[in-house]
Amino acid sequence: MFNYIVIGSGFAGSVIAERIANVLNEKVLIIEKRNHIGGNCYDYKNKDGIIIHKYGPHLFHTNYKEVFDYLSNFTDWNIYHHRVLAFIDGKKVPIPFNLNSLYLTFPESLAKRIEEKLLKKYPYNSKVPILDLKKENDKDLRFLADYIYQKVFLNYTVKQWGLKPEDIDPEVTARVPVFIGKDDRYFSDKYQAIPTEGYTKIFERMLNHSNIKLMLNTDFKEVISIDFESKKIYFFGQEFKGKLIFTGMIDELFNFKYGYLPYRSLDLRFETVEKEWFQEVATVNYPNDYDFTRITEFKHIHPASTEKTTILKEYSKQYIPNKDIPYYPVFTKENQKLYNRYKEEAEKFENIILVGRLAEYRYYDMDDVIKRALEVFEEKVR
Ligand code: UDP
Repeated sequence: MFNYIVIGSGFAGSVIAERIANVLNEKVLIIEKRNHIGGNCYDYKNKDGIIIHKYGPHLFHTNYKEVFDYLSNFTDWNIYHHRVLAFIDGKKVPIPFNLNSLYLTFPESLAKRIEEKLLKKYPYNSKVPILDLKKENDKDLRFLADYIYQKVFLNYTVKQWGLKPEDIDPEVTARVPVFIGKDDRYFSDKYQAIPTEGYTKIFERMLNHSNIKLMLNTDFKEVISIDFESKKIYFFGQEFKGKLIFTGMIDELFNFKYGYLPYRSLDLRFETVEKEWFQEVATVNYPNDYDFTRITEFKHIHPASTEKTTILKEYSKQYIPNKDIPYYPVFTKENQKLYNRYKEEAEKFENIILVGRLAEYRYYDMDDVIKRALEVFEEKVR
């Protein structure tokens, strides 16, 4: 009946399903464990009329024109530039730490001296990962690097990952580099916008096609089984010879046979507060205070005319298999090795295609996932 089965309806699965339906004009079945589509991008209007992101803040930003154009088929956009402040020693300073943060943090003469040295060494508007800045020999630059490392990165990273910045792939902290400029925006990408009616509507429009069948509330293990010996896949007990596009946790696909891949999970606590605004910008990071990592206020992201405001506190925690939601792969060399064993196993199957943050064990942003899904569709699916 189906030549294509997609497991998971986040961006990875939904983009591929949409392409199969529209470009190939083939039937595709999506199997989704949750009672809704959209994976962790799912959002909805809460009872106070505010669009909230159920699985944590999702801010779309990209430099890939093709990704922006592709998504624009399914949504209108509100221009939105994400801003983040970090609460440090009683003050809120822009993150990524930039030249404005420098002047807010230090007495003017010191800030000026450091700024001059930074600009001598680095081009204006350049980005320097904190772990690179820490290698500086100059006394003032070293002082700055140690300060930012201690006050912005160390405790936040330990809270978020249970690891110090130097014990996790440098790519992770390099996502938020020190910025040698005065642009206070969190991202510097060319396209930065929020879908006018939220993300869920994008998924609804992508999947609203007569070629696409959706099974919600269905764990893939209930309908699909894998014979590791013969490398065959069974769907409701019958051999499935089509393509299986898997976007879930790769270790689960293989029955955790090499052990559990580590992930970080989150406790997300929403609160609605009886005042018009809670904080100055959408997100305030708390590297050194409290147990949560950050507070996001959704009205900054999706304007709403209400006297109340909904905020989200994120508490990071270790992921417990079969209990928690896996949000982030934990990017260390050792975990990468374990992932590669699973990947090699998947490659022995002719018809298994892996795509997405969980299946590829990569710290993909939304735009990376969409780009990847479009590529995988061209290279492996069609
Ligand atoms: N980070 C930090 N302090 C901050 C912001 C970020 O230490 O104030 C580090 C931390 O390790 C974090 C990583 O940079 O996990 C990536 O941050 P990003 O905001 O990209 O994380 P996400 O929004 O994906 O959770």
